[in-house]
Amino acid sequence: MRMMKHQELLKGLIRLHVLHHASQEPFYGQWMIHELARHGYTLSPGTLYPMLHGLERRGYLKSKNERNGRTFRRMYWATSLGREANKLAKIQVRELIGELQRSRRHSS
Ligand SMILES: [Zn+2]
Repeated sequence: MRMMKHQELLKGLIRLHVLHHASQEPFYGQWMIHELARHGYTLSPGTLYPMLHGLERRGYLKSKNERNGRTFRRMYWATSLGREANKLAKIQVRELIGELQRSRRHSS
């Protein structure tokens, strides 16, 4: 997939996407993999989980194991730092979209 060729570059956008959902309600890894796939991002657990751990290490997310029938799954949600970063990201993404749209007529 063409997009995955540029995954390193797009990782920032994927992180913002994760942070957006984490600011709304807790999620678990498999749910996020499906959600990102819906937006065209094919991520393996081997890519997503290190990303989630990185966000947790930097204080943007928190997580804990929750019982789901006989098994446990890890739930993730945004901390107040994560929600603050999400608000800032929203402003900056809007600003970027504005610029991308303004320059559309110059690209071919
Ligand atoms: Zn989404």
